[in-house]
Amino acid sequence: MAANDKFEGWLGLDKESVKGNMQWGEFEPKKWSEDDVDIEVSHCGICGSDLHMLSSGWSQTPYPCVVGHEIVGKAVRVGSNVKDITVGDRVGVGAQARSCLKPDCEECSTHQENYCGNGNISTYGGVYPGDEGKSYGGYAKHNRTHNRFVFKIPEGLDSADAAPMLCGGITVFSPLKRHGAGPGKKVGIVGVGGLGHFAVLFARALGADKVVAISRKASKRDEAIKLGADEYIATDDDKDWEKNNKRSLDLIVSTVSSAKMPLTSYLGLLRVHGTYIQVGAPDGGELPPVNAFTLLASGIKLGGSGIGSPDEIKEMLQLAADQKIKPWVQKRPMKEANAAIVDMEAGKARFRYVLEN
Ligand code: ZN
Ligand code: ZN
Repeated sequence: MAANDKFEGWLGLDKESVKGNMQWGEFEPKKWSEDDVDIEVSHCGICGSDLHMLSSGWSQTPYPCVVGHEIVGKAVRVGSNVKDITVGDRVGVGAQARSCLKPDCEECSTHQENYCGNGNISTYGGVYPGDEGKSYGGYAKHNRTHNRFVFKIPEGLDSADAAPMLCGGITVFSPLKRHGAGPGKKVGIVGVGGLGHFAVLFARALGADKVVAISRKASKRDEAIKLGADEYIATDDDKDWEKNNKRSLDLIVSTVSSAKMPLTSYLGLLRVHGTYIQVGAPDGGELPPVNAFTLLASGIKLGGSGIGSPDEIKEMLQLAADQKIKPWVQKRPMKEANAAIVDMEAGKARFRYVLEN
């Protein structure tokens, strides 16, 4: 693109935008730097975080805001400092647009940029330091992001399939990998939605002995089994599910974000020294209280995980290409973004909507 081409996208102007009231218009991307890549967006997944941001659910959003952090497209302008991306490459951007990247930052210098404590910038709704401007996401024609957080999409991976992996996928891939999902391990996934469906696919791909999907209603059983789960637990509908599955899992990744989740019951499914990792975040962030004896009695660990590092994203994309992982995505035209977010909010996605330009 020419240096002074206009950036356009779906602007959220206030809290009401989440109800299908985003407005198409121009926006001013972050100030160009020679570390940046401009991307002509071909696809952008719809993530639950997009809705939280549009409605100021987690904190006050700096409107106007263009959401979308599961971006795939073509590199159309590449800064002179960028080494491994060239104009024309098929690339993607996830939920993180920048970290401090200082050589003395413990996290940035050890490939854990997603946990940088000195200036993380989210892909949208973020404010860059100084006069660099704000970050804008992928419900748009173009996106501008620092090259460290722009990833080449491996051949063989469809763009619409790759897009939702960049947030939904990596959010579960990172804790599965880090906590040893693989041969010899029995893994439980709480929630069979956008994130949970990726977790079933990746736990399978990583070679876990057994994958158990856990959700409230029996109605998602067939879908979970089709995705590759060995077993399914419906916590509302299976009587005695706690007793029947007690101490059966080595690792649980929980993708649900209800503040009323039966956390203590989930923890009861862990074997001794098992690990429970929460990746879903309720509005306000409060989890149900946990009694210390619940942790002590089984020697279990309760933890969390936030997106994933650039290295982990590259590894996940390559694994997905190599194993031909097929997420369940439904394509929607970019011009119908308002209708798509309303359907997403209503829980109709099976399992991820991907906007297509
Ligand atoms: Zn840092
Ligand atoms: Zn997301």
